[in-house]
Amino acid sequence: MVLAGDVAGLVIRPALEGIGVFGESDTEVTVCVAAGENWHAFVERSLRQGHYGLENLALIPGTVGAAPIQNIGAYGVELESFVYRVHAIDIASGEDLTLGAQDCAFGYRDSVFKHALRDRLVITAIDLKLPLQPHVNADYPSLAACLAEQGVASPTPADVFAAVVAIRSARLPNPADMPNAGSFFKNPMVDDGFASKLKADNPDMPVFAAGDGASKLSAAWLIEQCGWKGRVRGGVGVHDRHSLVLVNRGGGRGSELLALAADIRQSVADAFGVELEIEPRIYGTQA
Ligand SMILES: Cc1cc2nc3c(=O)[nH]c(=O)nc-3n(C[C@H](O)[C@H](O)[C@H](O)COP(=O)(O)OP(=O)(O)OC[C@H]3O[C@@H](n4cnc5c(N)ncnc54)[C@H](O)[C@@H]3O)c2cc1C
Repeated sequence: MVLAGDVAGLVIRPALEGIGVFGESDTEVTVCVAAGENWHAFVERSLRQGHYGLENLALIPGTVGAAPIQNIGAYGVELESFVYRVHAIDIASGEDLTLGAQDCAFGYRDSVFKHALRDRLVITAIDLKLPLQPHVNADYPSLAACLAEQGVASPTPADVFAAVVAIRSARLPNPADMPNAGSFFKNPMVDDGFASKLKADNPDMPVFAAGDGASKLSAAWLIEQCGWKGRVRGGVGVHDRHSLVLVNRGGGRGSELLALAADIRQSVADAFGVELEIEPRIYGTQA
C-alpha cells in the first residue's frame, strides 16, 4: 500500500499467529496459516517441511493475510494455484465467513477483495493445499538464466528458492532501507493484435502470451524506454536498477509520488498507446 496522506479512521493490523496442518493425503497437505504470519518465513518453513510449490514466491514482503488481496505472484507462479479457502470476519456484521477459492475470483494481481469485497472483510487465515512432491517451475526467463549461470541443470525446489532470493536481493530495494511498494504498475494486458503491432514497431519489446487472445507487456520495459529509469524528482524517484519500482528517497510526500506516477503513465500512453494501472492500494487521498 501507499500512504499518500493521513488516513481518517480506525486502522487494524491483524497480528494473528499460528500454522497447522489439518489434512494430508499421499500427494498433498492442507495447511491453515494465520493472517499475521510473515509470508517469507512461511515459505521457508513450508520448504523445510517438504511442502512444495511456494518457492517461486520467496521474499515477497508482507503478511499471509495480505497475500490473497492481490493474489501475490512472482517468477511464473501465483498464490491462487494453492488457495483452498480464505477465512475472514465481515466488518459490518462481525460474522465469520469462509470463502472457497472460486469465490475469491483471483486474477493477475487481482481478486474479489479489491472489488465487491473491498475493505469489507478482515482476513484472519488462509488454507492452502501444497504438493508433497516437487513440481519445479523454473521456466521464467530471469529464473532460468540465474539457474543456468549457477550450472544447475535439474533444479530442486531448494535451488529455485535460493535463486529467487538471490535475484530479488540483487534487483529490488529493501523497503526497510529505501521505502517502496515493489512494482508500482501492473504489467499491461492488451489484445494479441495490438501486441503484434507494437512488436512490429519495437522488435526488442518483450511480449508474453497470456491466453484467450491476450498478451502481457512488460511495464518495466515501457517505462525504461520513456527514459524514467533512475530519474530523481524531489524526495521520490524511479529506482536505478528496476524501473517499475518507485522509491521514497527520504522525506518524499505522497503527492510527489502520485504526481511522478501520473507523469510516467502519461508518457507511456503517449509513446505506446498503453494505459498503465497502479498496482498498490493508495490510502489517504480524496482521489
Ligand atoms: C520490494 C517489494 C517487492 C514486492 N514484490 C512483489 C511480488 O513479487 N509480487 C507481488 O504480488 N507483490 C509484491 N510486492 C507487494 C507486496 O509485497 C504484497 O502486496 C504483499 O501482499 C503486501 O503485504 P502487506 O502485509 O505489507 O500488506 P499491506 O501493504 O499492509 O496491505 C495491502 C492491502 O491488503 C489489505 N490487507 C492486508 N492484510 C489484510 C487482512 N488480513 N485482511 C484484509 N485486508 C488486508 C490492506 O488493507 C491493503 O489494502 C512487493 C513489495 C515490495 C515492497
